[in-house]
Amino acid sequence: MDSTAIILSSLTATSLLLCVALAMAWHCFGRERHAAIWSAAFGLSTATWAVNLLSAWMPAFDTPLTLLASLTSIGCFALIALGFRRRVGLPERAELIIMIGAAVSVLAGWVVIWSTHAGFVRALIVFFCAAMLIVSALSLRADPQDGRRRTGGAAFWMLASFAGYDLLLGIVALCASGPADLSYRLYRLMLLLGVPTGLFGVGLFAMFLLAADLADGMRQLAASDPLTGILNRRGFEQAAVPLVAQSKRHARTLAVVMADLDRFKTINDRFGHGVGDAVLQCFASHVGKTIREGDLFGRMGGEEFVLVLPDTGGSEAIEAIERIRAGLDAAVRDLVPSARITASFGIALLDQRGDTLSDAMGRADRALYDSKMTGRDRITLAAAATATALRAVTRRVA
Ligand code: GH3
Ligand code: MG
Ligand code: MG
Repeated sequence: MDSTAIILSSLTATSLLLCVALAMAWHCFGRERHAAIWSAAFGLSTATWAVNLLSAWMPAFDTPLTLLASLTSIGCFALIALGFRRRVGLPERAELIIMIGAAVSVLAGWVVIWSTHAGFVRALIVFFCAAMLIVSALSLRADPQDGRRRTGGAAFWMLASFAGYDLLLGIVALCASGPADLSYRLYRLMLLLGVPTGLFGVGLFAMFLLAADLADGMRQLAASDPLTGILNRRGFEQAAVPLVAQSKRHARTLAVVMADLDRFKTINDRFGHGVGDAVLQCFASHVGKTIREGDLFGRMGGEEFVLVLPDTGGSEAIEAIERIRAGLDAAVRDLVPSARITASFGIALLDQRGDTLSDAMGRADRALYDSKMTGRDRITLAAAATATALRAVTRRVA
């Protein structure tokens, strides 16, 4: 066995390993379609190296085997690009990629059969691979999710540099008119040195992206409330940290609001737990639609919710909550036509001198308690933190 055959055997085995690893990632990481597509891509990569190995052993079949290796290579890179587009939810444009791949395959077949130029078909394939890597890299840039864009940053540069290397390789291949050419020998060297490295880089980064996406999903799950889809207590407290820090740094007002649905137990008792759940979902969706972008909203547990309103003073916070109260009845009327759903609110302003979020939440909670004690369906604004006692100003809204 000569050294080329040994290298090709090892590349075949490594591709197969990546194909199996990606299939396992598909099975274990939530059966994401793009993982299956990437696994299939490395299946075709295994076939490409295996056919190259055969071609080294059987020089008599060089032409058909070169053609077959070209086709599997085109399929492999087309699937890689499809997987990347699928991962970020872009339209896959599979028909377009397949059409271009088929056109390149037909052209490659024609060149292999009719042309004596040794490097032309190779350049054609390598340029197609470079184009598919550019499509893959651009799809990482188009990822609408911020967190995923960050994890995709390294993958973008790896794909872009591999695409650049392929373009260079294609140019060297174009200069090679016959197997005895210096350019052809340079092409072979660059092919064996760079292409496996890049291809396995793509495989490893694909695995990394699958694991990073899974970790992102778990983080999101741990921070969100399964019933309403909004932040849970833990997610809310994490997300509030930068808002509180910014409010203190720039000495801007920030309001904390605690909210509790009134006599919710009777809703469960009268209409059933399922309707109660639907009312909670409706309330969360109504508040989510009513607040401004940049306001924070979470469920503390049960029928208790919390809001952080940055750049908001006492009277503006009351106005914001009035908007929520005004639309609440209409938002839940279809669910419980014979009952009126109301909520009580407590507002506290963050004190810039040494107040923590938890201090402000405590004062808002006591103001909420005041709302409950004075008849429910109302808003209470807590006195400033520095006041010796809580002097709540209670406003009843008819
Ligand atoms: P108040 O006006 O004093 O707040 O009275 P309330 O009935 O709203 O308060 P209480 O604390 O007595 O009851 C809260 C109820 O909320 C009891 C509990 O069964 C219900 N609850 C808590 N979590 C959920 C949930 O996820 N779904 C449903 N359907 N009900 C819930
Ligand atoms: Mg309640
Ligand atoms: Mg409660």
